[in-house]
Amino acid sequence: MTPPDLSDPLTGPFWQGARAGELRVSWCAACDRAVWYPRAHCEICDGALHWRTLSGEASLIAWSEVSAALNPDFDTPYLTGLVSPREAPYIRLVTRLVDCCAADLRCDMAVTVRFRELQPRDGAAFIAPVFAPA
Ligand SMILES: [Zn+2]
Repeated sequence: MTPPDLSDPLTGPFWQGARAGELRVSWCAACDRAVWYPRAHCEICDGALHWRTLSGEASLIAWSEVSAALNPDFDTPYLTGLVSPREAPYIRLVTRLVDCCAADLRCDMAVTVRFRELQPRDGAAFIAPVFAPA
């Protein structure tokens, strides 16, 4: 697996944020809303985007325990989920869920960001935002 490219103009600021302990999403100042996934311009007004650091507070929308390795890069089992950030509840972040087991999880439960080093089987470790029950 190729680790995230911190110099990539489109996604680098997200990964740089993770290394700095910040959850960042691309944001349109004109629309005053998050634009996710990152793209070159706002999907609504075509305006320029910048990066905004969020609180890391979010709600859990959905989750799954991965027990069969669809992606060979990571050992199973692990929990993956969709979360909606408090400041931008209309977007969904695909993430890893940590410090919990599947039986702990409930729809709309409060979760908070953590930063963990993920180690692919083949490739360099990298820091990623993950979420845990608040
Ligand atoms: Zn816009």
